[in-house]
Amino acid sequence: MTEFRSIAGPLPSIPDDLTIPQFIFGTQHPTRPSRAESIPWLIDDHSGRSIRRAELIQRTRSLANAMSSKWNIRAGDVVCIFSPNSTDYPVCIWAVHTIGGIITPANPAYKADELVHQLRTTRAALLIIHSAFLDTAQAAAREVGLPADRIAFFQAPPRPFASSHSNLDELIKYGSSIPPIYTELRFKPGEAKTALAFLSFSSGTTGKPKAVAIPHYSVIANVVQMTAHYKLDDPTQKNKRFMPGDVGIAVLPFFHIYGLVVNLHFLLFAGLSIVVIPKFNFSAFLDSIVRHRITHLLIVPPQVVLLCKHPSVKNFNLSHVKFCMSGAAPLSGELVHELRNVMPNSAIGQGYGLTETCTTVAMIPPAQHIATVGSAGQLIPGIVARVVKPDGSLAREGEQGELVVTGPSMALRYMNNEAATKETFVDGWVHTGDEVIIKNNEIYVVDRLKEIMKVRGFQVAPAELEGHLLLHPDVADACVVSIPDDYSGELPLAYIVLSDSAMRRVSGNAQAAVQLKAVLAKHVADAKVPYKQLAGGIEFIDAIPKNPSGKMLRRVLRDQARKVKASS
Ligand code: AMP
Repeated sequence: MTEFRSIAGPLPSIPDDLTIPQFIFGTQHPTRPSRAESIPWLIDDHSGRSIRRAELIQRTRSLANAMSSKWNIRAGDVVCIFSPNSTDYPVCIWAVHTIGGIITPANPAYKADELVHQLRTTRAALLIIHSAFLDTAQAAAREVGLPADRIAFFQAPPRPFASSHSNLDELIKYGSSIPPIYTELRFKPGEAKTALAFLSFSSGTTGKPKAVAIPHYSVIANVVQMTAHYKLDDPTQKNKRFMPGDVGIAVLPFFHIYGLVVNLHFLLFAGLSIVVIPKFNFSAFLDSIVRHRITHLLIVPPQVVLLCKHPSVKNFNLSHVKFCMSGAAPLSGELVHELRNVMPNSAIGQGYGLTETCTTVAMIPPAQHIATVGSAGQLIPGIVARVVKPDGSLAREGEQGELVVTGPSMALRYMNNEAATKETFVDGWVHTGDEVIIKNNEIYVVDRLKEIMKVRGFQVAPAELEGHLLLHPDVADACVVSIPDDYSGELPLAYIVLSDSAMRRVSGNAQAAVQLKAVLAKHVADAKVPYKQLAGGIEFIDAIPKNPSGKMLRRVLRDQARKVKASS
């Protein structure tokens, strides 16, 4: 067999004429007909305030109305959200979708230059921010020429601001006080497959972060696929893992595809209430899990490490957790088993996916209690997978090669980047850049062929850091590779070739070399979000190894760095 498909069951039909909010609010949906009006959909972790479907619809529509009236946001306009999670985050998303706009979610920890890259690439017309990040947002908005009255706030702005009605509560009040002027986006059959809903950032196989074009249909399809994987649409098969009254927790950021599609849209569609957490803090997280009797935990490997190793965990009873999935980066099989001691009643395992596949390709098998060691999950309905060997031929079960997948949720392209699109999106198939083995329809990630590294589940693109290092006058050449780390998974380490003058200053002078490393580390720390910092260290070398056509031999340095790390 050279093509692999889900064995979990058939894929039900996927609506191709709905926007995401029409799909998520719809009660007559064929895959999930009745979701209770009375259960809270979202719960604010801190205040305990719960928000039900009717209120979410009202807030969404009023905000859509206000955005139309105030900024004339309409089909094709891009709105950037620059905020941690909040219960109004999805309201912003659905309001923008309702009027045909596209959301580009940004990491609120970004420095101004990183946000500039996102705003510029997507040509965002409006920026909705958490007020704590006003300085960065303002600096970035100035740089791209976005006027100050095109910044709106999740909550009251910290100081008098250019724009009236600039926070969400005021906008929602305003939107509900005026007659409806917005036109709700409605699709003809098939149109949801091409109308964009999100521009999420990923570096793909090579180069700097790029905007992945994700249509409404991709998100809806992935939600339907996950629903079918767990047979939640089949009334004859009561799946005890997803029952009325179950509660998930949204500690994963909504700006990343895993938080956005799996944690937010899938869990809501599955009928769960979701407790929304703005920022991860381990002891507060444990407390929230117990306080809200959380049943469903979607997390990343560093959080698994803490749950297995942190001494305070033994003071918490997590026996109510029924489903715990780690994703976004590799997780060791041993940890999966250690987690069992912490959550004895939970299904435990991994999910695997990419921004480019609009998330889930594989997840915990429906009937399995504890994952097979090393498995990143079982293919979900609708995914077709191939494993391509280095010679281009297709691998059989158990053979190693690059994972190439297709299915209804695949993103369309990288926006305005034909060259990168051609490499990754080929005739409807996504080249993942991950080296895998498939056995019993489960994926085992063996290595990564692409350049990116994953630090605490976040992508770090070596090309981005190398480009920034080269801006420093003391740097003549640079190559960034990853070294393994127990907590973060990987950490970036920079090999740097110094300019002649810097070389003269540091040669034979150990103290000057240490000082220069500190200067270069700061050069990165000042411009980049914390997880991109050179926590793996800096090494000076004479030359970066390259092939005859000048391409960096990154693997040579990566293997060298790993050897040094292993022997230290
Ligand atoms: P992103 O687009 O940020 O979600 O990154 C996607 C990449 O994360 C994949 O191509 C993999 O390299 C990695 N990844 C996601 N899930 C897993 C997993 N369960 N095991 C190993 N790597 C993973």
